[in-house]
Amino acid sequence: MTTMFKEEVECCVCGEKSSHTGIGSTNSFGSPDLDTRPPEMQRSTIYHWIQRCPSCGYCSSDLSKCSNNTKEIIKSVEYQNIVKNNVTPEVASSFLALSYEKEQSNQYSDSAWMAIHASWICDDENNSEVSTRCRKQAISLIEKANSQAQKIADQKGASEAIAIDLMRRAGMFQEALKLVALTQAKEIEEIIIQVIKYEEKLIELKDVASHTISEALGKE
Ligand SMILES: [Zn+2]
Repeated sequence: MTTMFKEEVECCVCGEKSSHTGIGSTNSFGSPDLDTRPPEMQRSTIYHWIQRCPSCGYCSSDLSKCSNNTKEIIKSVEYQNIVKNNVTPEVASSFLALSYEKEQSNQYSDSAWMAIHASWICDDENNSEVSTRCRKQAISLIEKANSQAQKIADQKGASEAIAIDLMRRAGMFQEALKLVALTQAKEIEEIIIQVIKYEEKLIELKDVASHTISEALGKE
């Protein structure tokens, strides 16, 4: 069961108070997706992982907190364009806005994860065009993270496995296969080897749907 509560949060950018839903506790049954998206009930709590200030548009997991350059970034035309975009589902825009702020602060790993979260919201809305765009953005942010020695996952090969899944889901089959070959040549853990083998099979089938880690391990 998921328990939720209402809380009033004061925006650290403009001082406006707004009401948001917090998550007290949640649980999950089953396997995460190949891109680590959790199963239910945790899966659908994603809509409360981010808050948006109704006054200035600041998006954060906690509006009461900001870093030194937050105010400047929030005021930028680029940021406001992301927040006000009405083609992208609203919560996805909020994640993309946070992704932009993290990118501007050179936090490429966090930035990539926020773009991945945005893609999950678009999946829920069956908006494959925008979810593909979010995934492509996440892939380039992972590349930036790698170039700065920032890891998006701790386990050896996990970062590559996530990137391969993003590429497959975005229909970038050639790029995905290239990364499969590169990763298989590295020393990685057995579980990741199995996940990557399964990705290879899905890519051959040109399957762009979401699949779980259990499926990859032959447990379903
Ligand atoms: Zn505000």
